[in-house]
Amino acid sequence: MSMRQQFSQVLEKASMGSELTKEDIVTLLQALPGEEEEQLFQLADKVRRENHGDAVHLRGIIEFSNYCRNDCHYCGLRRSNKDLKRYRIPMEEIIEAARYAAALGYGTIVLQAGEDPYYSGEQLADMIRRVKEVGDFAVTVCVGERSREDYELMRKAGADRYLLKHETADPELFAQMRPGTSFEERIKRLNWLRELGFQVGSGNMIGLPGQTVETLAEDILLLKELDVEMAGIGPFIPHHQTPLKDCGPGDLKLTLKALAVARLVLPLAHLPATTAVGTLHPEGRKLALSCGANVIMPNLSPATYRQMYQIYPEKAGSKEDADESHERITTLVKEMGRQISTGRGDSPKEHFKNGPAC
Ligand code: SAM
Ligand code: SF4
Repeated sequence: MSMRQQFSQVLEKASMGSELTKEDIVTLLQALPGEEEEQLFQLADKVRRENHGDAVHLRGIIEFSNYCRNDCHYCGLRRSNKDLKRYRIPMEEIIEAARYAAALGYGTIVLQAGEDPYYSGEQLADMIRRVKEVGDFAVTVCVGERSREDYELMRKAGADRYLLKHETADPELFAQMRPGTSFEERIKRLNWLRELGFQVGSGNMIGLPGQTVETLAEDILLLKELDVEMAGIGPFIPHHQTPLKDCGPGDLKLTLKALAVARLVLPLAHLPATTAVGTLHPEGRKLALSCGANVIMPNLSPATYRQMYQIYPEKAGSKEDADESHERITTLVKEMGRQISTGRGDSPKEHFKNGPAC
């Protein structure tokens, strides 16, 4: 099918680097299968290449605790899920995983967990310090909503980046999906993280019940307003032990379109080919790398814990060990004619080029 006039006008505008309105973004997100989708994906791929080259950054993720005080309707780690065996990885094993990452030449370690109040800000800071002693890593922290003081401790301990997805830019849907929390508090924290000098990552899920294409456009505009250094955009995947168990998963094409539009709106941001898109479809990560993504987050959690970090079932890589994850991902990158990046992979923004200023 050839392109509709309105669609090609907006695509032309995007290719000139002009600012896109909400209406423009909706038009692009509604790209029809065939010529429109192809042109959108090709432009996003071109913008990715111009701004980031062909390197793919690997961020090794260690999921160090699956305890969570929250009860998010979409997530298998929610506190009401009594069928999940809970764990906290001992510090020695975290350090061991970091050593393994150093041996493989990873430039970034992501320390991720449920919102687990067992860890004080000091303990998290200590974990960051010890991981950073292992190698010349950037450390990204992803442990949810904490006090400003805790974020400050983490930053002073050497954390370079913080990932806190806004999940959805619709405040009502946010409050429904995340009982006891609010969109306002989330945004407040994203602003603190910015003030504290972190490279800030946010992002959203595609396919939450009640979401519309307009909300998705708002998600992308919010990422632009926050001027994020990283944006994780991935499909929602239902988990059988959550209130959303009967909902369908996010749509693959819509996820890829949102990713492609995010690339056009945020040319300098790092965009991962998420584990969720790799779980949704066997070729998911490859497709994402072809329409704007430039990052993959291989799982470095020791094999004994992986199956227990069940945000959603059959999470890509949950049945392998770290060797297999690494091998599979490097093969995929090479098959695509891309290279594994060396170095930390900081934001290409001028301010962060040599790591964030303290
Ligand atoms: N607890 C922290 C938080 O919520 O920010 C960090 C860990 S949380 C498991 C990391 C991400 O998992 C969330 O930001 C959310 O987008 C994603 N997630 C949770 N449940 C999901 C699901 N069913 N499908 C897709 N992504 C999901
Ligand atoms: Fe906890 Fe994060 Fe899962 Fe919500 S998404 S239940 S905060 S781990």
